[in-house]
Amino acid sequence: MTRKSVTILGSTGSIGVSTLDVIGQLGGRERFDVMALTGNGNIALLAEQAKLVGAKLAVTADDRRYQELKVTLAGSGIAVASGTSGLAEAAAMDADWVMAAIVGTAGLAPTLAAAERGADIALANKECLVSAGPLFVEAVRRGGGKLIPVDSEHSAIFQTLEEHQRHALERIILTASGGPFRTWSREDMANVTVETARAHPNWSMGLKISIGSASMFNKALEMIEAQHLFAATPEQIEVVVHPQSIVHSMVGYTDGSVLAQLGVPDMRTAIGYALTYPARSPLNVDRLDFAKIGRLDFEAPDEERFPALRLARLAMHRGGLQGCIMNAAEETAFEAFVEGRIRFLQMADIVEAAMDRLSSISPAASIEDVFAADVEARRTAAEFIAGL
Ligand code: NAD
Ligand code: MG
Repeated sequence: MTRKSVTILGSTGSIGVSTLDVIGQLGGRERFDVMALTGNGNIALLAEQAKLVGAKLAVTADDRRYQELKVTLAGSGIAVASGTSGLAEAAAMDADWVMAAIVGTAGLAPTLAAAERGADIALANKECLVSAGPLFVEAVRRGGGKLIPVDSEHSAIFQTLEEHQRHALERIILTASGGPFRTWSREDMANVTVETARAHPNWSMGLKISIGSASMFNKALEMIEAQHLFAATPEQIEVVVHPQSIVHSMVGYTDGSVLAQLGVPDMRTAIGYALTYPARSPLNVDRLDFAKIGRLDFEAPDEERFPALRLARLAMHRGGLQGCIMNAAEETAFEAFVEGRIRFLQMADIVEAAMDRLSSISPAASIEDVFAADVEARRTAAEFIAGL
């Protein structure tokens, strides 16, 4: 295979570390030129990664950590930058393939910039599509690169939805593990700690998405992500709880057929697929042993206990900037929960209140409208949190 140049936005996170593992498995420096790596607070890891792969540029999103990164990489020949401009510099570097693995809305601007200049985008950062939906898809189209989902559910759908059968797509069935509180009552969920909420039964992930799995806000974001990625209607998007996380998602066709993609819960399969698409490359990940697994379970999601799913439907039906508002309010509520300022179930209350308050904002005509709505939703959510 020809050499490929890559950039990883968010290399120090859970997805970023797995991406570097996959790159290592598939030949490392023999086969890949790493252009830029970006991180935030973990300077030691960022510097270590940059040296290991011979990155041309290392960026910390935190301007206050610039000096520390510079000192750590002194003499290495690796360029150093920081903050918003540093992230823009990383996105602008001439990499064929960009892994978008920054968490939250912070990932939108650099990912959009990489898309605009025509890079293939491996999209882990679902917030890009939830917030900016059609504008983001249009930016990728204009740039001319591919948009390859990395989120396990969307990778599964991408792998089972062939272009020539798109006309026969009937429904998209997103699987959800149900998280650590799948069988809990609302009373039991009322006073849970961050430590209990972050303990995902199957996947090892960053803090934000782990809490989002417990509240099912992660699935809510994924419903909207699927809508934009696969040009689906809200009615075509279903969620089914599947506690084993073996079936990563399914596509139902108009002839009654359902195709599924299965694997062990390990993000490296989806990352590897995105890296070498349309080819597949051998990966050292665990294999499924069906006899050992024995059974696969499925159950209907409970929108009473997990209102996030209902809010995603509301956002899809209202359209416009409601996805952006839901996401920004949820990030704000998540931070408040992690800091102990609100309780677990109050996150959904805050999000719903912000969505209702801002339901008359007109659809985005430009990306600036998205950023403005994001700021407004955070301000509104913070106001509700302060008023509790
Ligand atoms: P993480 O918290 O482990 O890592 C986040 C990365 O973003 C780190 O490199 C961090 O330095 C960087 N970052 C944090 N704040 C930043 C900021 N303000 N500006 C710039 N960079 C910043 O998160 P993760 O679990 O790897 O998730 C990354 C993205 O991938 C999220 O959008 C998540 O929803 C999505 N995703 C993750 C998984 C998973 O298994 N972890 C699965 C599917 C989708
Ligand atoms: Mg997912």
